Amino acid sequence: MRNVVLLGSTGSIGTQTCEVIDDHRDSFRIVGMGAGGGHLSQLARQAVHFGVPVVGIANPGLEDEFLARFEAAGGTTRPRLVSGPQANIELAQLPADIVLNAITGSAGLLATMATLAAGTRLALANKESLVIGGRLVTDAAAPGQMVAVDSEHSAFAQCLRGGGRQEVRRLVLTASGGPFRGMTRDQLRHVTPEQALAHPTWQMGRVITINSATLVNKGLELLEAALLYDVALDDIQVVVHPQSIVHSGVEFADGATILQASPPDMKLPIGLALTWPERMPDVARACDWTTAASWTFEPLDSESFPAVELARKAGRAGGTAPAVLNGANEVCVDAFCKGQIGFLDITETIAQVLDHHLSSNHVPDGQLSVQAVLDADDWARGQACAVCRSRG
Ligand code: NDP
Repeated sequence: MRNVVLLGSTGSIGTQTCEVIDDHRDSFRIVGMGAGGGHLSQLARQAVHFGVPVVGIANPGLEDEFLARFEAAGGTTRPRLVSGPQANIELAQLPADIVLNAITGSAGLLATMATLAAGTRLALANKESLVIGGRLVTDAAAPGQMVAVDSEHSAFAQCLRGGGRQEVRRLVLTASGGPFRGMTRDQLRHVTPEQALAHPTWQMGRVITINSATLVNKGLELLEAALLYDVALDDIQVVVHPQSIVHSGVEFADGATILQASPPDMKLPIGLALTWPERMPDVARACDWTTAASWTFEPLDSESFPAVELARKAGRAGGTAPAVLNGANEVCVDAFCKGQIGFLDITETIAQVLDHHLSSNHVPDGQLSVQAVLDADDWARGQACAVCRSRG
């Protein structure tokens, strides 16, 4: 029996994690769960369903409302409630075998750090915390303590078992290309949030769905892969694979490439992250080899989608640069969804804020601290807001 703490339980990854655990109740127990507070009824239903002893709500002042919904959902034994800015940290510090961090955005950083400090295994969906924390996060992690939930990074972990570390030539990071694959910059100028939110192969939360349309998500994943597997940024190649069946791969020194394939379903990498390095039976559907299928691969169009190169630039600069890239992006995603800026303004604003940062207040890797990361995130948000206002 593994004791699990689930952060971001009401989101896309959180609910799919609940489904995996529900299907394997004899293997897992949820000892703590938490969310932002935007979906209290859902959080209450989850707490009742799994009999969760500790529940966290990051937004303060919602305890009474939660308890009312908990009782309405049939809950009898009230859980211990933790609430406010410390909630995620308190949850991450609970005695557990695994903390699955499925919070969205930079808000997940302190929970990631707290989990690593507590010595608990971290199943990481919240890539933003690794990307912005950089070496602070990797240095805090014991070997094997961090396990990726992202399907691409789960694929890397699986493929890396196919050879020795010194035999790896490059990582092949696949991207669906998102809903706007094949479009020119001129065509992208007029796309709407509704179109950007209609991802062709994955059902995900709002931020990651927009990030998949801009390819910012792939940029974040590039940085995540470099940090997780200690591979140089130039040794990670992004390739567009619209079917999202090959989740990524590893090219080895002799010319062999090992790829991992399965239908697009996050339950597979979620399940594997919960039991790594073992596999649970029947977590997700496998590929159907009895029907004809075509898998295609094409190079990334970096002119229409400059986000991966922007991330490479931030990654090369290191230090606070990735936090600025991410903070500016989170503001732009919000502004785009509210109709305040256009689609192309997202990456243009990030580029502008990043350049400003690199020429003014960039903190390099050697001087990085959690506070410097949080300050850079804050600064980037302020700068991006100002740029968005001037563009809107
Ligand atoms: P969602 O937006 O669907 O869910 C986000 C979750 O985080 C919700 O439960 C939300 O709670 C909670 N949350 C928001 N802010 C806070 C906070 N300050 N403290 C605690 N909880 C908070 O996101 P996704 O599930 O799509 O994505 C989660 C993470 O997983 C992201 O980092 C994403 O990049 C990554 N990921 C997602 C994939 C997917 O398929 N969805 C695939 C691979 C990676 P509430 O809304 O109730 O307030």
